[in-house]
Amino acid sequence: MTSLKGSQSIGDESHPFMFDRDAETMPRGNLAALQLRRLRKSLTYVYQKVAHIRRKFEAADVTPETLGSLADIAHFPFTEKTDLRDTYPFGLFAVPREQVLRLHASSGTTGKPTVVGYTRADLDLWSDLMARTLACAGARPGDIVHNAYGYGLFTGGLGAHYGAERLGCTVVPVSGGGTERQVMLMRDFGAAILCATPSYALNIAEVAAGMGVDIAALPLRYGAFGAEPWSEPMRCDLEARLGITAVDIYGLSEILGPGVAAECHVAQDGLHGWEDHFLFEVIDPETLRPLPMGEAGELVITTLTKEALPMVRYRTRDITRLSDEPCTCGRTHVRIKRVTGRNDDMLIIRGVNVYPSQVEAALIGFPGLAPHYQIVLARDGPLDAMTVEVERTGDAPGDAAACAKQAGDVQRHLKSMIGVTCAVAVKAPGEVPRSQGKAVRVKDERDGAARRGE
Ligand SMILES: [Zn+2]
Repeated sequence: MTSLKGSQSIGDESHPFMFDRDAETMPRGNLAALQLRRLRKSLTYVYQKVAHIRRKFEAADVTPETLGSLADIAHFPFTEKTDLRDTYPFGLFAVPREQVLRLHASSGTTGKPTVVGYTRADLDLWSDLMARTLACAGARPGDIVHNAYGYGLFTGGLGAHYGAERLGCTVVPVSGGGTERQVMLMRDFGAAILCATPSYALNIAEVAAGMGVDIAALPLRYGAFGAEPWSEPMRCDLEARLGITAVDIYGLSEILGPGVAAECHVAQDGLHGWEDHFLFEVIDPETLRPLPMGEAGELVITTLTKEALPMVRYRTRDITRLSDEPCTCGRTHVRIKRVTGRNDDMLIIRGVNVYPSQVEAALIGFPGLAPHYQIVLARDGPLDAMTVEVERTGDAPGDAAACAKQAGDVQRHLKSMIGVTCAVAVKAPGEVPRSQGKAVRVKDERDGAARRGE
């Protein structure tokens, strides 16, 4: 099977290479017509095959025939993570288990994991959409792709792996960890694309510098970074350290895994969501009503072509907004603006809503600080108290007076940027834990504190 769809040149900035140009540049009117056709078919399929969802349709007094236009999706019930938990492990599958060729699962912090499954057609679709995603992020057939996403039950590793192969790249399936060896392989093989979480990419850059390897001088051109929220200042920092264009990619296992949306390396301004296979909505998380194009709210996704685990109006908890403005790259698919955080991640500190990514954006580039941080939550009487642990750079003075002054400077800066007063602890170089995959940004010590107080 050939990896490229149609014939096209390798592309340049004004006419960038695409994996599936016809689909990616489809006029928006045609795209909407295709979505409506596929949505009707998928709703009928789910209604017939998944008893749990059929009962939810009945409770909401809808049938697939309720759908006359795309906007009518608003009448249909949401699917939430609890629906997956309530039907653990295979209750939302629309095909007999024997037709499921692969299972993945998310590691739930409490209780059972969330299980997802793929038919042969689903795996094929996933590879196609991930090939699109990597090409959108700057990869070309023939490139060496260094894949540092974790392999295993997590969808990141295998998702990127098969997408890169489908695109016609040479994949290095290194997974996470063993960072010094990763740097050696990137240098010796001549990696062109780095696939990793942004926090682990930062770890790689730092370890490389410690080994005396100048990654910016290597052939590495692009980073396809995702699986955790990250900030614009972090992007600039990674681009400078690694000498690359850093691109945000997005996905979640309940919908597909990585490959749901990707920034183009041309504009780096919002992630093209692949609308021929997904319907994107943004809703008000309080009223649950759909919001007009451009307004910020919670992203909700309906799959249009999935077989094993079709999803109707899945609530992602990710806060963002959509844009249908034309993009300079020529792709017509809607852009999902950078996800600022998840509902679930939002901290309420003395009545102020704070996302960890806002703390990150305020800290990166602050004089004398390394780009590593951790937020520690504790109980302060009836209130939640936040301590931000930051790390001084190797050349910043480490005596108590200098650290106290720096803590005060950072505290005032955070107050002015995010509007919250928090304690700041300045740590020595290397003391803030490094990411080996998904970074642990928030350490919650509130339960322990409460127990000790009893
Ligand atoms: Zn674009």
